[in-house]
Amino acid sequence: MTILTVQGLHAGYGVADVLRNIDFAVERGTIVALLGANGAGKTTTLRALSGLIPSRGVIKFAGTDLRQCSAARRVELGLAHVPQGRGTFAEFTVEENLAAGAYTAGSKRQIAQDMERWYEAFPRLAERRRQLAGSLSGGEQQMLALARALMSRPKLLLCDEPSLGLAPAITQEIFEIFRQLNQEHGMTLLIVEQNADLTLQFADTAYVMEAGEITLNGKASDLLSDEAVQQSYLGV
Ligand code: ATP
Repeated sequence: MTILTVQGLHAGYGVADVLRNIDFAVERGTIVALLGANGAGKTTTLRALSGLIPSRGVIKFAGTDLRQCSAARRVELGLAHVPQGRGTFAEFTVEENLAAGAYTAGSKRQIAQDMERWYEAFPRLAERRRQLAGSLSGGEQQMLALARALMSRPKLLLCDEPSLGLAPAITQEIFEIFRQLNQEHGMTLLIVEQNADLTLQFADTAYVMEAGEITLNGKASDLLSDEAVQQSYLGV
C-alpha cells in the first residue's frame, strides 16, 4: 500500500523553483532512498513534504491531501522530519528532548510508555537520559534526533543526511537502527543521503535527483549491481 504519493511537485525559496516536477511514491513498510549530489534538491524535497516551505503539486500522505495542512498538522498526521544537523536542543537533557518530541502523543502515561520503548531500542540514550544533549557524541545526537521524532508516533520518518559528520562505523550503526526500526517496529523511512553505496544496501527502492529533477529510480539492489548506474549517477 502506498503511504506517500508525490506528483508534479514544485518548490523553491524565491522566484525560481529548485524542484521541478518531482514524482515519486513511498510504499508502507519500506525503506526508500533519495540520493543525489550536493545541491540536487534532496533537502528541499523533505522541507516541502513537511510543510516548512511552500510548494505546488500533489502530496498525498496516508489518504490525506497535505496541500492545506500546516507543518504541525502534518506531524499530527504521522509525518516526522529528522533534519540535517539533527536539531536537538543542546541545553536540554536527553529526556527533555524526547518529551519535546511527544507533543502530539496524548496522555502522560502514553508518553512515559513511548519513552521506555525507545530507551529499549536506543540503550545508549537510556544510559544518558539525564545528560545534556549538547554533551553527546555525533552518533548519539543522531540517535536522539531519531528517538525524538519517533515520540510523535510517526507513520513515516523523513531522515535528512543521517551520516553527515559521522565516522563510517557510527554511520553503519545508525543504518542498522533504521533496519531495526523498519523490521521490528514496522516503520516506513525516506532517507536522504549522499552516501549512495551504503544507503542502497539498506533501502528497498531508490530515487536519484539531479538539478531539481528525479532522473533515475528503481529497486535498490538493481541500482547497486549496475556498474553504469554507479559510475554515471552515483559517483561510486
Ligand atoms: P545538500 O546535501 O547540500 O543538502 P541537497 O540535494 O539537499 O544538497 P538542497 O539543500 O535541497 O540540496 O538545495 C537545492 C538548491 O536550493 C541549491 O541550489 C541551494 O543553493 C538552494 N537552496 C537551498 N536552501 C536555500 C535557501 N534557504 N535559500 C535559497 N536557496 C536555497
